[in-house]
Amino acid sequence: MERWRGFISSVPLHSGMPHVVTSPCVNHKYQECVAVCPVEAFRELDTYLVIDPDECIDCGACIPECPVEAIFPDTEVPAGEEAWIDRNAEEAADAPVAEGDSPVLGD
Ligand code: SF4
Repeated sequence: MERWRGFISSVPLHSGMPHVVTSPCVNHKYQECVAVCPVEAFRELDTYLVIDPDECIDCGACIPECPVEAIFPDTEVPAGEEAWIDRNAEEAADAPVAEGDSPVLGD
């Protein structure tokens, strides 16, 4: 075990702080975020996307891609949007992987 100690401490662990989609996505469903996600973490519902917290690696690549600024680390979700943290986790469980090719719903 001792010989592994340095190696293990150098391995980045998942922070447990995934990114979440919040209410500005609703009724827009822009999907630029899907294209940059390296782990296919986005899930698609009828009128918005959510992020599966078990897949998200917290890279942050999706944040600047969102035209309506709907994506935040779960530690930085704006006031009033906190319910979206659980909502992403719960709704991602049964939703299909977003392919990024669905029609945008509206500007
Ligand atoms: S933070 Fe990175 S891994 Fe997580 S959903 Fe956005 S692009 Fe995907």
